[in-house]
Amino acid sequence: MIKQNLHTHSLFCDGKNSIEEIVNEAIKKNFSILGFSSHGEINVDGVSKIKHADLERYKEEVKMVKDKYKSQINIFLGIEEDVAGERYLEGFDYIIGSCHLLGNMAIDNSKKGFIELFNDKYKGNIYALVKDYFKEISKLCTYKEVDIIGHLDLYSKYNEEEEFFNFSDQKYLSMVYKMVDEIIVSNKIIEINTGAIARGHRKSAYPHKNILEYMAKKNAKIILNSDCHDKDFLDCAYLKTIELLEKIGFKEIMVLTENGFVSKSITEFR
Ligand SMILES: [Zn+2]
Ligand SMILES: [Zn+2]
Repeated sequence: MIKQNLHTHSLFCDGKNSIEEIVNEAIKKNFSILGFSSHGEINVDGVSKIKHADLERYKEEVKMVKDKYKSQINIFLGIEEDVAGERYLEGFDYIIGSCHLLGNMAIDNSKKGFIELFNDKYKGNIYALVKDYFKEISKLCTYKEVDIIGHLDLYSKYNEEEEFFNFSDQKYLSMVYKMVDEIIVSNKIIEINTGAIARGHRKSAYPHKNILEYMAKKNAKIILNSDCHDKDFLDCAYLKTIELLEKIGFKEIMVLTENGFVSKSITEFR
């Protein structure tokens, strides 16, 4: 069975555990592939990031555990690059491209912060917010180094009860479908991210089921990640999400190997 997570935060940014603690937990939970993806540098206060001075130490520590535990688990060095932050082109096995900010306002730091963004900056207009957010995702699509587009509908983190918009709104969905098409053309992998379930904000993974159905129809490349900030949630909601993906019609999931990304049958993940 394949068990993989390439979206893992540690003490190098806003995660709760050390690199080695997470590796030990992953081995205990029977993971076969684990990738670290510290937040890259970004010049905005109050946003989690790796300190520039720590970057080399981060790389060395991940390489150390990669070698130390190589008989038990395949470990990879990655980074979660924010579109508004520094771009890292060298020395990583893979890069997740994400957008966490609109202007200098964080999308996902707190519900209070999101309400401020939604009400003050966008006057309650979800289409305007999503339009600006997708402009940022479009930029990530042009970055050659980016392999995976992280949490595609992050702006829905606090929308479980559809407080801000309706997940089935056709005008909204047509904007998302266009974005999905663009990501597919740019040959990026779209992340299925269970992080908001671990934090108790959502009951299902990003992207929403309505988006997943379109992605399956279009044969989008996908990867399953937990966006782990706490080792206890390293495989949060994995089985139920795999079941949902299969039911929706996905046949394959991408995995990272020493020779890059390859697709594997979804049946190998359960
Ligand atoms: Zn993120
Ligand atoms: Zn993350």
